[in-house]
Amino acid sequence: MTVAELGEMLGGSGRAKQVWRALLRGDDPFAPGALSERARLKLVGRCRPTSAALGKQTVADDGTLKALVELEDGNAIEMVVIPKNGRTTVCVSTQVGCKRACSFCVTALVGLRRSLSAAEIVFQVELARRMSQERKMPPLRNVVFMGMGEPLDNLDAVKQGVAVLCDQNGLSIPPRHITLSTVGTTPTKIWSLKDLPVSVAWSLHTADDELRHKLVPTMRHALIDLRDAFVRVVQNRNALLFVEMALIAGINDDIQSAEKLADFLVPFGDNVRINLLPLNPGRGDLAPSQPESVGAYRQTLIERGYFCILRQPRGLGANAACGQLAGLGT
Ligand code: SAH
Repeated sequence: MTVAELGEMLGGSGRAKQVWRALLRGDDPFAPGALSERARLKLVGRCRPTSAALGKQTVADDGTLKALVELEDGNAIEMVVIPKNGRTTVCVSTQVGCKRACSFCVTALVGLRRSLSAAEIVFQVELARRMSQERKMPPLRNVVFMGMGEPLDNLDAVKQGVAVLCDQNGLSIPPRHITLSTVGTTPTKIWSLKDLPVSVAWSLHTADDELRHKLVPTMRHALIDLRDAFVRVVQNRNALLFVEMALIAGINDDIQSAEKLADFLVPFGDNVRINLLPLNPGRGDLAPSQPESVGAYRQTLIERGYFCILRQPRGLGANAACGQLAGLGT
């Protein structure tokens, strides 16, 4: 709940603010003394602490931390805490598993078990904030919805989660520090992002309809229709769109593919940024693009006037990188 919603439940916004102040101090708001006794009695009467808990943690050589979160119903998800350049980013899950079936992603092998609640989404960020403090990591600044699951398949909870994360009396994360990454499920869902003030990333991977259907088999819409919906969102909000390209050797990494992408993105004008990410291993049959191919691909896009960067994978050694989260803690 946002502070305003919690205030309504507890009969006063001051009480809700006390709860968040206790949480931010690292205190348990349910414990005697953390709040005024009136506020605490209200809280205990209306709410209960979650029994979701931090499970196994693995740290990669680069300091990236992968943590299993054990949910109340016995399901588990993974989140990744990434300290880098003086700030920490948390990569959160939005679902237990995913139904999008991307052929290169390990989460797809789990299938969709269920969607997370807004509380479970916020809980991951709050856990990450505490873990980053305990481990003396830089301050938690960024949240990316790039863990397990497809955010547009759980949009209501994601929207509510964003409202809570951005709440000025709570965690107070600036909306532009939150990135929602999506396959772009339908034009209607994409258009609904116009009301969500976060940064948006489109996991596109190819501008070729036939190939995309192989990489993201659950897509039912032509790429051009999805693109046009993103163009409208970007124009409506005067925001940037980040385009994510997982480059797979011999599949989507040749110069013609780069040219095709350059043509496809023309309607975005200056409002697009392209991130290249050589495939992280996980699904046996596919290999990452070779550095020469990635370099040539990037050069093609730069010559066509695009802003295009090569993203370094984080947490590879701990199976914590993009597309490596199966919710098993391995
Ligand atoms: N379902 C959302 C968010 C989760 S995936 C989405 O698809 O955007 C986060 C990012 O990791 C996506 O860009 C996805 O395409 C990418 N990804 C998945 N598997 C990968 C892999 N094996 N190597 C590199 N990136 C991968």
